[in-house]
Amino acid sequence: MSGGCVFCRIVARESPADIEYDDDLILAFKDLYPKAPVHLLIIPKRHIESIARLEPGDDAVVGHCVRVARLLGGYRLSCNTGPEGGQVVYHLHFHLTAGRRG
Ligand code: AMP
Ligand code: ZN
Repeated sequence: MSGGCVFCRIVARESPADIEYDDDLILAFKDLYPKAPVHLLIIPKRHIESIARLEPGDDAVVGHCVRVARLLGGYRLSCNTGPEGGQVVYHLHFHLTAGRRG
């Protein structure tokens, strides 16, 4: 059971997603409402609320998210954090966007 977290439900395959990358630690899938020609979300499988809530033991999984992004071509990585940072889903995710200049 993954409770109320939409991204935990995707990890548990209880909700559908267009998955582009999957390993033991992380998942990358297409954003449901893409804001660029390429728009993926890269998430740790373990529920971490946000980048502002990282603990020392989380460094490896965050580094892994950042390194896996390079498999997917040229890109911008962004991470909305907290209400003032525009975060809507409180399960850590990196937006990988590409295909738009500027
Ligand atoms: P943020 O503002 O950084 O919290 O962005 C959350 C992102 O998750 C938005 O870009 C949404 O379009 C995306 N999103 C929300 N629910 C889903 C879902 N079920 N599958 C894929 N993307 C989602
Ligand atoms: Zn979660």
